Amino acid sequence: MSGLLGYCRQGFEPELAAELTERAAEAGFAGYARTQRDSGFVVFVCDEADALSRALPFSSLIFARQKLRLIAELQGLDPKDRIAPMIEALHGQPMFGELVMEHPDSDAGKPLAGLARSLGNALRPALRKAGLLAAQDDERLPRLHVCFVTGDHAFLAISQPTDSAPWPLGIPRLRMHADAPSRSALKLEEALLVLLTERERASLLRDGMRAADLGAAPGGWTWVLTRHGLRVQAIDNGPLRQHVLDTGLVEHLRADGFSWQPQQPLDWMVCDMVEQPRRVAERMATWLREGWCRHAIFNLKLPMKKRWQETRLCLDLFAQQAQRPLTIRAKQLYHDREEITVFVTAPRP
Ligand code: SAM
Repeated sequence: MSGLLGYCRQGFEPELAAELTERAAEAGFAGYARTQRDSGFVVFVCDEADALSRALPFSSLIFARQKLRLIAELQGLDPKDRIAPMIEALHGQPMFGELVMEHPDSDAGKPLAGLARSLGNALRPALRKAGLLAAQDDERLPRLHVCFVTGDHAFLAISQPTDSAPWPLGIPRLRMHADAPSRSALKLEEALLVLLTERERASLLRDGMRAADLGAAPGGWTWVLTRHGLRVQAIDNGPLRQHVLDTGLVEHLRADGFSWQPQQPLDWMVCDMVEQPRRVAERMATWLREGWCRHAIFNLKLPMKKRWQETRLCLDLFAQQAQRPLTIRAKQLYHDREEITVFVTAPRP
């Protein structure tokens, strides 16, 4: 079996399938997507899986929470011995640094968590005995993923640590902070964790930097920015939570986020206004084009239909109207529902 395995939010399989199909075709690869509605995963069958995987870096995929290269698909596994066929299918593979036992993040997949965990406990020593797994976890080596889709049906797949999500199921486990004014705070925290590199987090988010938050109420994103020491102009007609204002770092302005502009250039702009995605994309482009901020994180709410096409259209529109070279990364985050999150940064002038 040759191809890629991608995990996605349940219900967004058509979007991931469309994305992989379009991106593979653009990169000159023949293949096709295989998926089922609400399964939480997509298989992209392709003879040149290694080359395709290199052509589609994980960080460039919007609807994929994880990107794996398939090794084998095992069906009709005998519940009395699921391990022997796995060891057999892995014959000739290089040594893995870690075993990740998984299941799709779907209604059908979640009940398989117990099976995956207990089988992992038995599979680990068997893999070590067969010389397929390092004695200690080694994060420099490729990881082996075993993904159960039913009790007798599993995929074996491989991830490269530098080109995949580091978390099981591709889901970062973030805890809601007791002081966070809204659950939305987790969205911005996840965006900063997933869309920025460690180095970018250290260099782009510094004490004393200045930011605007468009559509800020009740203040979750503003609160996250203040925790990094940023001073924030929070734009919303709605109220902000008092303890966010009490940080002394926040100026609340009751204004329209689509017409307000800063009096001087800012380091950051973030935007979580619930609006037509094209309208948001155009306004975000204006900010970058005019140099009102250097870095931005914004959400694009997706329509009910043609979500992949709308995503592509909005990102193209944004890139075109910004009229300057930009690094643009977009993802449907774990905490995103019918939306994607975009990070943009402009090179130093
Ligand atoms: N990011 C916020 C947080 O973490 O608490 C939540 C934002 S909420 C999803 C969307 C906000 O956008 C609402 O408070 C709404 O009042 C605001 N909003 C929508 N349209 C707006 C506009 N044109 N100008 C300013 N705010 C707007």
